[in-house]
Amino acid sequence: MSRMCDVCGKGVMSGNKVSKSMNHTRRTWRPNLHSIKAVLPNGTVRTIKVCSSCLSSGFVQKKVRVPKTEAAQN
Ligand SMILES: [Zn+2]
Repeated sequence: MSRMCDVCGKGVMSGNKVSKSMNHTRRTWRPNLHSIKAVLPNGTVRTIKVCSSCLSSGFVQKKVRVPKTEAAQN
């Protein structure tokens, strides 16, 4: 468990912030992670950390919450 996407493995990257006077300062880029409930391929539901690009690409199936009143009718 870290700052990593559970689907593609994207993690923290590092590099330099370069100012106008060309001073170099170390900095990091974090992935745009979201903690979501997902339906895994074997059918189980788990909370996983997924980056926004995996979410928009449809690599994960979100668990859809069904309201109790609607579940009783079906
Ligand atoms: Zn990802």
